[in-house]
Amino acid sequence: MADDLVPPHKETRDLLKLQLLRREFHEYPEPMWAEFWTTYRIIQELQELEEWDIYYGIDIYPKKEYRNNLPEEEVMEHYYEHAKTHYGIGKIEGMHGGYTGVIAHLKMGKGGPKIGFRFDIDALHLHESEDQNHKPTREGFRSKNDNMHGCGHDGHISMGLGLARLLTKKKKKLNADIYIYFQPGEEGGLGGSVFSKHKTVKELDYFISAHLGLVDTRKIICGVEFMASTRYKVTFEGKAAHAGVAPQEGQNALLAAAQATTAIHALPRHGDGATRAGVGDFHSYSPSNVISEEATFVLEVRGETMEINEEMERKALNVIKGAAKMNNVGFHYKNVGTYINAKNTPAMRKMVKDVAKELGIPSKAIIDTQLLMGSEDATYLMREVTNKGGKAVFVGLGCPTYGGHHSSKFDFDEDMMAWGVDIFWGMAQRIAGKKK
Ligand SMILES: [Zn+2]
Ligand SMILES: [Zn+2]
Repeated sequence: MADDLVPPHKETRDLLKLQLLRREFHEYPEPMWAEFWTTYRIIQELQELEEWDIYYGIDIYPKKEYRNNLPEEEVMEHYYEHAKTHYGIGKIEGMHGGYTGVIAHLKMGKGGPKIGFRFDIDALHLHESEDQNHKPTREGFRSKNDNMHGCGHDGHISMGLGLARLLTKKKKKLNADIYIYFQPGEEGGLGGSVFSKHKTVKELDYFISAHLGLVDTRKIICGVEFMASTRYKVTFEGKAAHAGVAPQEGQNALLAAAQATTAIHALPRHGDGATRAGVGDFHSYSPSNVISEEATFVLEVRGETMEINEEMERKALNVIKGAAKMNNVGFHYKNVGTYINAKNTPAMRKMVKDVAKELGIPSKAIIDTQLLMGSEDATYLMREVTNKGGKAVFVGLGCPTYGGHHSSKFDFDEDMMAWGVDIFWGMAQRIAGKKK
């Protein structure tokens, strides 16, 4: 089966730099919208290359923006203070309030097609495994705070910086306008939606993003497709009463929420495509001798297409209305995040395939397209570009994920970063070699 796999990458010198960067970012993971240290560390690396225009801080954010799931103020201040101590206030003050991330621009040669690459930079609030079998622990680069790069975004940052270095070296060899988006807040923050509104995104002719891991096998997925997904925070409002003496006077919010939960999990599947529906973050604080006055949960639906997702959404909200009526309680809900899906441009998928083959990756290890049940906010940038007539693709750099994404033992094969950089460079060459 060995020829089914992407072979180990041989360029040890380049790989070493990627590995060093990855391990440095791995050691200091920051949660979404608090990636202050991370952002400025990226800037330092870009500055060293001398050729890039670097934009960051509140200035790169649209005037009307919606950052989902902003951390508590004290959490944000904690990471801000850490970065301030590290770099000095002058370097980071433009990011105060969670305006993290970087946009870097390089004009190669005489300019030409505009190509955007996007890499996400945030980590998760997760305690990293202390098990000696877990490579970061064994090799001494385990997280030094309460977060963890448990999704591989440390690898994404390093690939972005590796690509920037390579493009700088080859500056005169191509005619292209390159933008690299180091995007914050992917893990539920909808950073992709915020960054998609940056004026440069509309102008892109080509857009490329990627993710490491994903499928547990070393393979290149030329075009990954993601599910559309919507989340709602739901609240049921009842009336408290003594559960023993006068239960008839109460209106039971907990019961409504519980019945809604089981009914949402029992929604029928869809014949036209994959679906998901479920409930989490369920709370009701009344003791058992009080009829519950309030209950809340977060509802999540997913669908293979926007239409299917919307249908799941409608059905789930109907269940909520029904459960409220059954129990004579009030209810309200609030959208706390929508992930859209996006299509890969077939010509771009083909280009990934050709580049991967040219690099010597066996055909059997190259998959044309695969639908993943997760969601991604790069889809917002993809949509923005393709709606304006540009082309977009999301590449899967498949490899084992050990404990799986978002687990305390998550890890990935570091040499896949070198394959990633090579694929991005190969694509830039092909794109810039062609007339628009
Ligand atoms: Zn993730
Ligand atoms: Zn991720």
